[in-house]
Amino acid sequence: MNVAAILKLKGREVFTASPDTPLLEIAELLGQHKIGCIVIAEDDGKVAGIVSERDIVREIARAGGSVLDEPVEVCMTKAVVSCRESDTMDQLMGEMTAHRFRHMPVMDRGRLVGLVSIGDVVRMRIAEAEMEAAAMREYIATG
Ligand code: AMP
Repeated sequence: MNVAAILKLKGREVFTASPDTPLLEIAELLGQHKIGCIVIAEDDGKVAGIVSERDIVREIARAGGSVLDEPVEVCMTKAVVSCRESDTMDQLMGEMTAHRFRHMPVMDRGRLVGLVSIGDVVRMRIAEAEMEAAAMREYIATG
């Protein structure tokens, strides 16, 4: 099972915002869409960073609520780690565990083509385990 299979199930929509978007607007987007992170992209589509709910909470704790008027670029992570559609779920889980984050943008020749979260990976793993168990039960019942 690879990243392409996850995108086939969940779709390729990625919520993005420009680096000058106020943090409050980012928080509203996270709330409206019930998601945990937004990819920050330039006008030409180039990925400039990633911001998660954790970044916003930490920035409020550090600088106070007035930081919500500041542009997202003050607290986004600029060194974005991405994956490719051909990467396996094991590779993805390894990267997420090593870097201690829960989101990975999927890139194809410099273009953003999807986003996978730890929740997507766990859901796929459970579906896989259920399919294997069903096949095993069928094998035992008919054997
Ligand atoms: P998360 O666990 O995804 O909420 O993110 C925890 C921290 O890692 C935050 O500072 C994020 O900005 C950062 N982060 C999340 N995903 C990535 C990624 N794919 N590449 C680099 N940093 C990330």
